Amino acid sequence: MNELLPEECEPPLVQDLSSSELVLGTNSTKKQSYTEAELLNSDFDVISESSKYFRNTYFPNVPDKKWSSWKWQIQNSYTSFNELSKVLDISSISDDDDFLTKAKKLPLRITPYYASLFEGKPTNYALIKSVVPSKLEFIVSEGEEEDPLHEEKMCPTENLVHRYPDRVLMLSTGFCSVYCRYCTRSRMVSKDQKSYSFKVWEKSLQYIRNTPTIRDIVISGGDPLTLPDKQLDYLLSELRAIPHVEIIRLGTKVPMVLPQRITHNLVNMIKKYHPVFMSVHVTHPDEFTPEVKEACTRIANAGIVMGSQTVLLQGVNDEVGIMKDLMHKALMSRIKPYYIYQCDPIPGSSHFRTPVSKGLEIIQGLRGFTSGYAIPHFVIDAPGGGGKIPLLPEYYQGREGDYVVMKNFEGKTYKYYDPE
Ligand code: SF4
Repeated sequence: MNELLPEECEPPLVQDLSSSELVLGTNSTKKQSYTEAELLNSDFDVISESSKYFRNTYFPNVPDKKWSSWKWQIQNSYTSFNELSKVLDISSISDDDDFLTKAKKLPLRITPYYASLFEGKPTNYALIKSVVPSKLEFIVSEGEEEDPLHEEKMCPTENLVHRYPDRVLMLSTGFCSVYCRYCTRSRMVSKDQKSYSFKVWEKSLQYIRNTPTIRDIVISGGDPLTLPDKQLDYLLSELRAIPHVEIIRLGTKVPMVLPQRITHNLVNMIKKYHPVFMSVHVTHPDEFTPEVKEACTRIANAGIVMGSQTVLLQGVNDEVGIMKDLMHKALMSRIKPYYIYQCDPIPGSSHFRTPVSKGLEIIQGLRGFTSGYAIPHFVIDAPGGGGKIPLLPEYYQGREGDYVVMKNFEGKTYKYYDPE
């Protein structure tokens, strides 16, 4: 088991520190400062032509090594409309002062790498919509609530959600490298008071140690891959030392929005704790750049099995063609399509929510028209804490005597002999 040296946990883990401190372990300023050496020691070495163009345009003095450092990417992330306006024409998004004042309360964080994907695109571009605040977030609709899955009612400790009998969700940090506009946990991500101290982690570890029925741990947040290697190593080692913990899963969007974080050091550290799985949050086929493919290759080559998680979003990915392309690109990057989620009813999310029939239409448009491996489950995480409920198009039509009647992917009817 790994021990954290005092200087590695104090700060950040012993005290209740802000999310920026927790992720970076340095100080509380929004723009973190690092030594040149820290910013130049990344082993990530893939930069696509479009990233180079963006870097040369907006950061002309930044060398490849720095651009490819995840710490540099976090240090130079866009966190306000003012900063974003340097790289994006935001006039149509923020065309009134009232909105700009109110928008200061909305979390905003976008890595320069992810912003490079916006270059030359209109403001209604899918990836822009998914991470740039909009006025529509101030419209609260029927059924929306801060904690729609009632996770906070299922917390035996401050950062542990115990909803299913044999598994728990551990919220490791409130920090993410990019803040998605539709985040289920927007009540806690980006909120400084929702960063977790070492003592909070320890209480949760103790709960898991004392609960032998728990065999599966999902570490999420926030994004656990924004934690420094040492802290993640510590957490994984403590979990792996618990005899009844069988599998560990990391829920993350980092490979898609900050692929530079996937260093050889990181994956070599994680693979010490196998079996470790990774649920990768993917949104749109345009996310699969050469950088992302390199990150996924490193993860897969370390034996970490990846599954995709996608939130179905109106105007972003709610077309069969886009979803099929996304699932194919995920598979080609060795991520098995796993879940498409109906967008959870958090406050101000109705502009993203599609009718449930859209999800069924997408599954129907995939099943039979592409490899079975490319087909995820479409689920609704039941409001009120009912858990994930899978929905399927109506292939099963009922019974006729000793036969089951079914419709195939082309809508043709077939009967299967199945005496009662
Ligand atoms: S990466 Fe995940 S936890 Fe972070 S803001 Fe996006 S959806 Fe929320």
